[in-house]
Amino acid sequence: MQKTRGEMFPRISRRKTREIWVGKVGIGGDNPIRVQSMTNTDTKDIGATLSQIEALSEAGCEIVRVAVPDERAALALKEIVRNSPLPVIADLHFDISLGEKALLAGVAGIRINPGTIKSKKHLDALLRGCKEVGVCLRIGINAGSLEAEFLRKYRTPGPKAMVESALRWVEYVIERFDFYNLKVSLKSSNWWDTVKAYEEFSKKSDFPLHIGVTEAGGLLAGTIKNTMAITHLLMKGIGDTIRVSLTADPVEEVYVAFEILRNLGLRTLHPDIIACPTCGRCEIDLMKLYEEVERWARNIRANLKLAVMGCVVNGPGEAKIADLGIAGGKGVGLIFREGKIIKKVKEEELLKVFFAEIERFLREHPERLNV
Ligand code: SF4
Repeated sequence: MQKTRGEMFPRISRRKTREIWVGKVGIGGDNPIRVQSMTNTDTKDIGATLSQIEALSEAGCEIVRVAVPDERAALALKEIVRNSPLPVIADLHFDISLGEKALLAGVAGIRINPGTIKSKKHLDALLRGCKEVGVCLRIGINAGSLEAEFLRKYRTPGPKAMVESALRWVEYVIERFDFYNLKVSLKSSNWWDTVKAYEEFSKKSDFPLHIGVTEAGGLLAGTIKNTMAITHLLMKGIGDTIRVSLTADPVEEVYVAFEILRNLGLRTLHPDIIACPTCGRCEIDLMKLYEEVERWARNIRANLKLAVMGCVVNGPGEAKIADLGIAGGKGVGLIFREGKIIKKVKEEELLKVFFAEIERFLREHPERLNV
């Protein structure tokens, strides 16, 4: 990742994994860590599902998964796949026979959860189909729905049970079907169990890993849990694609995933924003200013560091690492660039002038746009 001025990141050496493909998106090998999400619309509602996929794509999502709970959802896949800007993965539980329709619809991947599979016959037919069509398969182990056999053996759906289940299924798919376009996930709602499971599995297999914490909670709690697990794993070089699962708008999952990647120096997509917490010296509505800058920043792909600071006394100095920033005063604001104050403008014109200065900066540094 290209650094902005004065940036330092941890040194991370990524674990070497096999390269696999979800449609045209490469995962593992030397590919960047991919960001994915899942729609939470009713899959049968093709329009709503496609507009959510569009929003995810605009936010930077690279792969999307949709739930296929019944036949009507499976039948909707054809049109969703045809119009989706992202490769679509069909998420199958219980009725694996729906996978046949998903493959006919042209999905780029299938996700199965071995703990919810009812028919081995249908599973084998699906795996044969995946191999024939060349789609990617994710073996998605979930602590909450682990197979009874492993629960009996380990008494708890902890990391050892999850890893044994995953290894068993990888072996089954390879030996029985000679199938390698495969990735694995081992998720628990407990972030530390999740970490331990991925660490253990990655010692025993070089298949790419889809990482994240499952059932992590809402925007605040879920972001924290996911960040703890994903950061821990990525710093050890483990993880080839991320899904930050949140009880929130899935678009937020994408922003959180890119924040994690940016803070580790692994990928950047949208501008980074430094902002002060405000204090008694702040005489401007900084929260509103921050929201406006964040909204603007989410719509642009650029490697840029912006600052939104509450006062002119400390703001420009404390945010000198930023490429460009604003600092509020009483009825006025300062605009600074690379630590130097370049303009003083009325509060009501502050954002307009600030955005114009950012655009000028990007015209002078077009390389910052190619992220
Ligand atoms: S920049 Fe100014 S307003 Fe913001 S926290 Fe620091 S001193 Fe307070």
